[in-house]
Amino acid sequence: MVNKNEVHEIIIEDIGTEGQGIGHVDGEAVFVKDTLPGDTAIVKIIKAKKNMAYGRLEEIIKPSVNRVVPRCEVAKSCGGCTLQHMDYNAQLSYKWNKVRELLKRVGGISEPERIMEFVTPDGEVHFPQEYTGEEDVHHSPERLAYGLEEPYHYRNKMQFPVGLDKNGKAVLGFYAGRTHSIIPLTDCCIGHEVNRAVIKSIKEYIDKYKVSVYDEEKHTGLIRHVLTRVGFHTNELMVCLVINGDELPYADKLYDILTVNIEKYNKNSDDADIDFRSFMININNEKTNRILGFSSKVLRGEAYITDYIGDIVFRISPESFFQVNPEMTGKLYGKALEYAALKGGEKVWDMYCGIGTISLFLSQKAGRAYGVEVIPQAIEDAGNNAKLNGIDNTEFFVGKAEEVVPKLYAEDRVKYSADVVVVDPPRKGCDEKLLDTIREMAPDRIVYVSCDPATLARDIRYLTEHGYLLKKAAVYDQFSHGVHVETVCLLSKKV
Ligand code: SAH
Repeated sequence: MVNKNEVHEIIIEDIGTEGQGIGHVDGEAVFVKDTLPGDTAIVKIIKAKKNMAYGRLEEIIKPSVNRVVPRCEVAKSCGGCTLQHMDYNAQLSYKWNKVRELLKRVGGISEPERIMEFVTPDGEVHFPQEYTGEEDVHHSPERLAYGLEEPYHYRNKMQFPVGLDKNGKAVLGFYAGRTHSIIPLTDCCIGHEVNRAVIKSIKEYIDKYKVSVYDEEKHTGLIRHVLTRVGFHTNELMVCLVINGDELPYADKLYDILTVNIEKYNKNSDDADIDFRSFMININNEKTNRILGFSSKVLRGEAYITDYIGDIVFRISPESFFQVNPEMTGKLYGKALEYAALKGGEKVWDMYCGIGTISLFLSQKAGRAYGVEVIPQAIEDAGNNAKLNGIDNTEFFVGKAEEVVPKLYAEDRVKYSADVVVVDPPRKGCDEKLLDTIREMAPDRIVYVSCDPATLARDIRYLTEHGYLLKKAAVYDQFSHGVHVETVCLLSKKV
């Protein structure tokens, strides 16, 4: 039994779902933030539960061979990137291995590496030949030394909280992991580089015009958050200030400051010029942790920016859900389309369809695409996106997939049949009721897009025990320096 306040020397062996290191004391798992597999660390137990404990890193006695100095100065305190202190190649090895181990252990797939491929952000595809051998990849990053440039600045959406520091001074930055104290920031190395110019402008504006900032406890003050979105394929920029009030004072002045700083940024950057398209406010007068309020207003330009995933165009407003790494998402959805192997005329279902990205992708090659999604606003976006792209062979349904699909299929087994089913569920994976209906629909192929390999493996086991074979799996490093990994799998009906 591990007790609170004890100090232990622990060898870290694994990484938890939130990026913390995991080691053991007397067979009990101890979760320690800021540690990596291979670290030997002095850890103070801060919380002890039945069979597990949380520890605070006191000192690293022997660092892991994969430990690196993070590029970002605030990597340790910021709750964003959880793996920046890990060598990038080791991050890739870790993600690859995680999917392989889960498919094997939980999914019941023997030698999954035979059917796996790995796609890194440079678009390169790596095949299992590079991973043969059974040595522990955590400790041998050189085996995966791809020599690729580390992916930074890939995120298209940022939300910076604005508030007061301990001394009552205005501060703009990031929440420290799991808390609401704001760490000041001048840059974020996974967000688009233009954010630097935006952060600088907002600070300048707040200081110069003495604009009040939000005090979470007292629920007073104006500026709560700054939301930025960039269209990575269109270079359009949206800046939206979330305010506790109805009007932004000196808005024209802020617009001018932003314009000047963005122009400067464009001049000094080798990348394509940023086009400041949309300057907005979002009104959130409630005492709530929710970032956005329910109404937005355009101050200058448009109420949206546009961007592409693959060759499908999307209109993105402050509230819209949109994939945060559209470049990798495009590649991943391209793989889903390849796995779907459509010849034309097929009926496809896109379960958990969000704003319909996959449905729209598939509809270009299919006869008809149905999408189902629980959030009404997302379904509205999906319909609008279909119109925007001149696509008329899609139909979207609002509701829980596990309720809507069984009902529709029971009503009309011909109309709502499926040649191919795609699922892209949230982390908890697919509801078993939905999997049962999919079995009844008996599509030739199931394409499983997953953001959590543990639930993916669980669902793969279920499907392989009920008439399907796992044919292929492709792993994507879509959230570099974070702990999450995306996988797309192809399952075929056994003949
Ligand atoms: N492919 C989508 C993203 C899918 S993310 C896109 O590109 O937009 C998973 C989606 O499942 C989310 O939009 C979430 O709202 C939705 N969801 C969660 N539980 C659901 C359920 N029980 N039934 C249907 N959709 C659900």
